[in-house]
Amino acid sequence: MSTQLKEKIFVTKSFMPPKEEYFSFVNRIYENGQLTNQGPLLKELEQKLSEFLHVENFQYVTNGTIALQIALKALGIEDGEIITTPFSYVATTSSILWEKCKPVFVDIEPENFTIDVDKIEAKITPQTRAIMPVHVFGYACNVEKIQEIANKYNLKVIYDAAHAFGSKFKGKSLLSYGDISTCSFHATKLYHTIEGGACVVKDNNISEKLDLIKRFGNIGEEHYCLGINAKQSEFNAAMGLANLPYIKEIIEKRQKISQLYDNELEGIVQRPKAQEDLDYNYAYYPVLFKNETELLKVFEALHEEGIYPRRYFYPSLNKLSYLDTYDSCPISENICSRIACLPLYPTLELSVVEKICKIIKATISN
Ligand SMILES: *Cc1c(COP(=O)(O)O)cnc(C)c1O
Repeated sequence: MSTQLKEKIFVTKSFMPPKEEYFSFVNRIYENGQLTNQGPLLKELEQKLSEFLHVENFQYVTNGTIALQIALKALGIEDGEIITTPFSYVATTSSILWEKCKPVFVDIEPENFTIDVDKIEAKITPQTRAIMPVHVFGYACNVEKIQEIANKYNLKVIYDAAHAFGSKFKGKSLLSYGDISTCSFHATKLYHTIEGGACVVKDNNISEKLDLIKRFGNIGEEHYCLGINAKQSEFNAAMGLANLPYIKEIIEKRQKISQLYDNELEGIVQRPKAQEDLDYNYAYYPVLFKNETELLKVFEALHEEGIYPRRYFYPSLNKLSYLDTYDSCPISENICSRIACLPLYPTLELSVVEKICKIIKATISN
């Protein structure tokens, strides 16, 4: 191949705001001396993010996993079955198991990898408490049909919207759907606060309960309920405040890179189909190869050049070794065997994207 790249290329690279801008927020922490416990920077970030997303009851927490766990707790779900998707990061399933509930897997749509709503009702039993779908890669679940099913069977809906920050469906943030939507602001995500997460809660009372749960169920001398520590620090909030002004630019750069991939890889790899009413956030660039053999061949060729895409997601979560039962999900299992996310981040150079595409094309045609 052509020139060796100077640095290794991974699937993502965290956005870094200008140092002075981050430090100016950190200076405020030094001035006021409050490091955590719902401090002024956290409050300001919550305020700005709820304005940005046009949502109410936005609660910033330590990560996207605890967000899912306290969402279940706040809704009073302590046992029973949760209908979910096998095509996600492991945290979706592990949070259900950690909360002593049973994940029940429903297969996915082949077009955009979200839960197949036509297969949900067949999996509902008297033990079913909630549906936990994922707006995977920032693509929208069929939110209208899911709400219809939830209403019909009196189930709660918790969206794992870890990938959905910046995606809008019918003009509304994807985080505004469901009883609770959770998000992750981990360093690998489109918008990050180093570590971090959020819950967006529809009902005011549930929101108050979640607010208590995340701080040990304790305010001052009063102990109201069993809780945990999901409070985020002021330094993380500072990073969030420094990154937020760049969101538009981050999404635009990702879009530009995605379009170059589209042009270069048309007809070479299969791509998901975004919904018509979706204003996409370009969180990931997933591609489907013909089969696992082709995927592994491409990975080997890219690795030789110091380029590391990721098998998002693999394995299909219904096949995790620590599950008690096996729910067959043939579409998810098939897709997991041959899907990968290509490098995508704002500072990724277009020449590197061209190089990646060249390697993929050369490998596939051989
Ligand atoms: C990243 C991620 C999470 C977990 O978020 P953390 O902030 O890393 O705890 C949950 N669900 C999905 C789909 C994710 O990609």
